[in-house]
Amino acid sequence: MKSDTFMTEARFDVVIAGGGYVGLALAVALKHMAQDIRVAVIDAAGKPEGTQDVRASALSPSSRDLLSSLDVWRDIENDAQPMIDMVLTDSRLDDPYRPVFLHFDKPADGSPFAWMVPNASIIKVLWDKALEAGVKIIHGRVEIYHSTSGQVAIHLSDGTQCRAALLVAADGAQSALRKLAGISTVGRSYSQCGISTTVKHMRDHDGKAIQHFLPAGSFAILPLRGKRCSIVWADNKERAERLVREDDFTFLLELQKRFGRHLGEIELDGPRYAFPLHLQIARRFAGNRLALAGDAAHVVHPIAGQGLNLGLQDVKVLSDLITEAYMLGLDCGSDIVLEAYERQRRSEVMQMAFATDSIHTLFSNSVPPVRLLRDVGLSFVSRIPKLQSFFMSRAAGG
Ligand SMILES: Cc1cc2nc3c(=O)[nH]c(=O)nc-3n(C[C@H](O)[C@H](O)[C@H](O)COP(=O)(O)OP(=O)(O)OC[C@H]3O[C@@H](n4cnc5c(N)ncnc54)[C@H](O)[C@@H]3O)c2cc1C
Repeated sequence: MKSDTFMTEARFDVVIAGGGYVGLALAVALKHMAQDIRVAVIDAAGKPEGTQDVRASALSPSSRDLLSSLDVWRDIENDAQPMIDMVLTDSRLDDPYRPVFLHFDKPADGSPFAWMVPNASIIKVLWDKALEAGVKIIHGRVEIYHSTSGQVAIHLSDGTQCRAALLVAADGAQSALRKLAGISTVGRSYSQCGISTTVKHMRDHDGKAIQHFLPAGSFAILPLRGKRCSIVWADNKERAERLVREDDFTFLLELQKRFGRHLGEIELDGPRYAFPLHLQIARRFAGNRLALAGDAAHVVHPIAGQGLNLGLQDVKVLSDLITEAYMLGLDCGSDIVLEAYERQRRSEVMQMAFATDSIHTLFSNSVPPVRLLRDVGLSFVSRIPKLQSFFMSRAAGG
């Protein structure tokens, strides 16, 4: 679709490149906090009808609080499965029995430590809320931008352009805007893919999540509404890419080996995709009139299900800073806003990057002394309630 001709002269306060989870959530947050702020979202893929994203996300209490404050949660809640129990095991694929090494039970106040929500539900609700709030959604690809002292000019691939005080890059892990800004990244490839799919099963999961740490990668069984679970299965890159191409019978056979029999018979309930896994942190989260948010700024291993939660915390901090400047009549793309954003986000992102990378390194190692050390560590944690609740609160994004 060609963008409207009015785009040639259009001016906004904030333009967000990328209408994924983070870009749309930011647009909704800005309009929620300052109704008359002019916000546009430019997305290359357009309306997320029938999205191909088969994943579901474990949303932490902080993410749920943010979505509740934006009146988004009430439309998502019906699809959200509270996670009230979690067990971790550490064994080899062929071990006949997988002993539980760590068990996070429901917190004393009975509140779940996360909610599993299908990504398709999140994106649909955010898209509808953004339109309802008056966000201008433009189907197009940002190709280039130029910042001057007072504004940023954004050029789309169809030749149209618009202007804003601030441009936010929420255009995902391969962010073209981050590259255009000359912002490099640090990190590494895990040489793994995360296979994501959904299964149906016979017995109730009772809101329990199970994470099997297997030598080739973690295998997570995450409860969804009904007798269904979302699978996040990290494995060697070549094997994962081959497995998703296998026929259903062969794929299910391999999946069943890792899933076990505790929920009875299982069957596939949707397509499967393999996502390459890597750690990637931008060296700066801001440039001249540019802020990076979500995967454009940071990508972490999904072993703890925290990527989107980090992105939603970017949304919280950035929307507070932008609307505060806007309501005081100040420049919302100024260095003061951008420096405060960088300052408030970098430390949490680096901690999460370090934590997920360490868990991955520790558990993808099957050398006997390392296994012994980590199993002793896990059983130590499981015996000390204070340590348990510390890990639980970190897992919940606390
Ligand atoms: C297997 C797996 C499981 C995961 N599970 C969890 C979990 O349980 N919990 C959790 O918190 N996180 C999880 N994550 C991480 C989470 O999915 C990501 O952090 C999240 O999708 C990032 O959202 P985003 O909006 O930043 O980027 P994206 O979802 O990638 O969106 C980017 C958007 O930008 C658009 N775009 C790209 N280029 C341009 C351009 N030039 N111009 C305009 N638009 C453009 C694209 O069309 C897209 O809509 C998981 C990740 C994986 C791989």
